[in-house]
Amino acid sequence: MREINATEITKNIKEMCILANHYMADDMKNALNNAINTETTELGRQVLDKLEENLDIAQKEMIPICQDTGMAVIFIEIGQEVHLVGDTYEHAINEGVREGYTEGYLRKSIVKDPIYRENTKDNTPAVIHYSMVPGDKIKITVAPKGFGSENMSKVYMLKPADGIEGVKNAILTAVKEAGPNACPPMVVGVGIGGTFEKCAIMAKKALTRDLNIKPEKEYVRNLEEEMLEKINETGIGPAGLGGKNTALAVNIETYPTHIAGLPVAVNICCHVNRHITREI
Ligand code: SF4
Repeated sequence: MREINATEITKNIKEMCILANHYMADDMKNALNNAINTETTELGRQVLDKLEENLDIAQKEMIPICQDTGMAVIFIEIGQEVHLVGDTYEHAINEGVREGYTEGYLRKSIVKDPIYRENTKDNTPAVIHYSMVPGDKIKITVAPKGFGSENMSKVYMLKPADGIEGVKNAILTAVKEAGPNACPPMVVGVGIGGTFEKCAIMAKKALTRDLNIKPEKEYVRNLEEEMLEKINETGIGPAGLGGKNTALAVNIETYPTHIAGLPVAVNICCHVNRHITREI
């Protein structure tokens, strides 16, 4: 067994919350650059130029990329040979979020209760997804999620007979309904299969996958390409003002499902798509 002190988790999460909100991940930066070079409308290019300028200012002057610094979504893969000492995972993670958002002067956006809505004032609690993996390491991904785009996300419980055409239709419907509200150009995370909740978690995780990593299954790779093309044919464009670049990428994850169902989740993210991963 390898012992890891809970303070290591807190320290890393704190740093990652601050970094993710000020520096865009390299894969996203490249995608945005590519969009600038391929945008066909003048207005679209101007919007993309402004987004790039905003990114430069954010990292030079340590100002968050966006005023909505998000709800902290954490994926944590825990090696079976790891023994955590000093605190629980949940406390250690939330302490990291608390310190990161407080010391990093990031906006506190979380309310204690969905109906009574009193701000927790430290952006906790995080939404945490745990998984156990072989080995003696802990892999943490921090993905602060803005709610302009989160509010535009959808789950569809399709029938098996709807097939792949039904899936394509569901993705396009969600994107068209999102329109300018998801702060395009967007990244579209899709989960196909599993159950109601499994496909939603897959769609969220898909957003954190490096845009340069392609799925193993050929039909999924083709579906990603086809959907990106179709989404960009909608003409919604940067900031919804028209143009070629409505989405920068479509990332799809799949999982086995029940004979009677075909769940599909579409988790939409804006151009910021904050995500950072570290291994301890
Ligand atoms: S959706 Fe993204 S860009 Fe739009 S306000 Fe939220 S975090 Fe900011």
